[in-house]
Amino acid sequence: MSPKKTKSSKKTSEHRVTLIPGDGIGPEVVAAAQAVLAAAEAPIRWQTCLAGAEVFKKGVASGVLPETVASIRETGVALKGPLETPVGYGGKSANVTLRKYFETYGNLRPVRELPGIRTPYSGRGIDFVVVRENVEDLYAGIEHMQTPGTAQALKLISHRGSEKIIRLAFELARAEGRKTVHCATKANILKLTEGLFKRVFEEVAQDYPEIRAEHMIVDNCAHQMVMRPEQFDVIVMTNMNGDILSDLASALIGGLGFAPSANLGDQASIFEAVHGSAPQIAGKDMANPTALISSAVLMLRHLGEMARADAVENALLATLEDGKALTTDIAGHAGVGTKAFTQEIIKNLGRAPKSYPRRDYKRLRLPRVDDATGAAVAHRVVGADVIVECAEAPAALGPRVEAATAGLSLKLAQISSRGAKVYPDEVGVTPEPGDCLRLRFKSVRADAAVSDAAILELLTRVAGLAPWVHVEKLSEFDGKPAFTKDSGED
Ligand code: NAP
Repeated sequence: MSPKKTKSSKKTSEHRVTLIPGDGIGPEVVAAAQAVLAAAEAPIRWQTCLAGAEVFKKGVASGVLPETVASIRETGVALKGPLETPVGYGGKSANVTLRKYFETYGNLRPVRELPGIRTPYSGRGIDFVVVRENVEDLYAGIEHMQTPGTAQALKLISHRGSEKIIRLAFELARAEGRKTVHCATKANILKLTEGLFKRVFEEVAQDYPEIRAEHMIVDNCAHQMVMRPEQFDVIVMTNMNGDILSDLASALIGGLGFAPSANLGDQASIFEAVHGSAPQIAGKDMANPTALISSAVLMLRHLGEMARADAVENALLATLEDGKALTTDIAGHAGVGTKAFTQEIIKNLGRAPKSYPRRDYKRLRLPRVDDATGAAVAHRVVGADVIVECAEAPAALGPRVEAATAGLSLKLAQISSRGAKVYPDEVGVTPEPGDCLRLRFKSVRADAAVSDAAILELLTRVAGLAPWVHVEKLSEFDGKPAFTKDSGED
């Protein structure tokens, strides 16, 4: 899908882009990118807008001005400097706010060995893209203290959200002529959440027969990324796994100063460096603008400005390869300032690096996903998990629950503590003392569906013994259990 064209862009083929200078080194690296794009005659009209520390200090809890949101809504594209997450004032991260406002579900992090940047991996030809789901998973940030002693975070993975990011990964492979897409999950342990992601990957892969689709357990992926990173082409992951492994990946090619990213969504896309505001070097003309300029290259490709993207990228790569004027984070005492490095890139426009394989980029299509995916045919409630605040030993609580719920259509199947069955105790488990237990009730009649009225009656009886804090229905979809077993459960 093409990014939005604004009214004026239709007339002049000029693209309007929201520009957020950001905090710390943000204004310096953003100015560097702007200067290089202007020198490359990229047809962009910038709308400069505020977000971050200054906005928090004005008392706006989201850290993003309404005018900034309106601008991104209008342009559909933003280039953004890093935003400080306030400590001691303000509220949530302004980065996360922007991501949520515009549902930028697809985080792309290209990881490619750079000419002239020596790392322990130099010469291995590292060249892959981490595709991270950006809005679901634990980062929905839905947390509760279940009891004073036990916290819970919900890991939400949807079929639709998984399909969007996985299709995006395959579309990226097509657009960049890549041969393999790996999907790294923890499906061996998290069989329903990470397992859903893996299953959707296997479904979607059928639509891309020319691309090799490989699943890998995410811990092995971390190991492989360090041992043999050159084997990867595209890796798609759920949010938290992708967050952690994409930072690891950046370190393989020289670190945060070199890592660009794109946050793609159907309403808007935001391009930014992976690094933060680096306050220690802010305002000192010391920041390396490579990551932000590389993010601007991703933006130009998103806008369909393929030739200009290549020109800017080639000038940047030629500058790094020459090594004549590099920033101090790379060159140490022999280094130059942000401005001098930027001027060197501008001088090198029209040149290309001598030894760097060229990739023939095509414009990336954002996938369309059918609304109906994931719908189950038959849905039957077969029981309920009731989480209670209770410090009593399970061996004592169990018989009391059985007595209090006798005669109901649901009966206690087991009690568990942090996912392990502790009552009835057939193997001599001694649970850690705690204040949170899960009571699993199953329908007395295996063939009967459990009604809401039966669950409400059950809760009334349980409440007489211990305060219940959470209830979760146990369902079957199309005859298959839609819940996991506890360790030790038959
Ligand atoms: P950071 O700003 O990335 O800085 C960590 C260190 O990395 C810096 O002190 C600096 O090292 C080096 N560095 C980072 N970018 C560089 C560049 N372009 N050129 C040269 N050196 C660079 O991480 P942080 O200190 O954890 O975070 C600072 C603030 O940024 C926090 O408020 C955080 O919330 C925010 N942040 C924002 C984003 C975002 O907007 N997307 C992302 C991450 C963090 P030396 O000190 O050794 O020079």
